[in-house]
Amino acid sequence: MKKLTEKEYQDLMQRFADAWGVKSQQVMAIEEMSELQKELCKYLRRTENSGEYTKEEIEETISNIQEEIADVLIIVTQMRSIFGADEVDKMIDRKLQRGAERLEKWMKEQK
Ligand SMILES: [Mg+2]
Repeated sequence: MKKLTEKEYQDLMQRFADAWGVKSQQVMAIEEMSELQKELCKYLRRTENSGEYTKEEIEETISNIQEEIADVLIIVTQMRSIFGADEVDKMIDRKLQRGAERLEKWMKEQK
């Protein structure tokens, strides 16, 4: 399967949002985020009580987490289109820059 270009990806996200409607996609976003939360909790439980779970059960959870991350990224990308991609992107830049500054300050304090 060929990888979508950024433009194809964004167009598809907008088409999903247009076709299914904003309300339905918001409900879907809430649902998908809770599915990811559930799988992350399951992973923590299974790895913290590792003796009680098989390697296969832990691998299954990792695969479920990967699937739920994909679902969340898809639906969150639609939320980004619906609520304003440019503003979201500016906020991402601001937050990453602030995070980088905090990291730098923290690393200096460690020396
Ligand atoms: Mg899902």
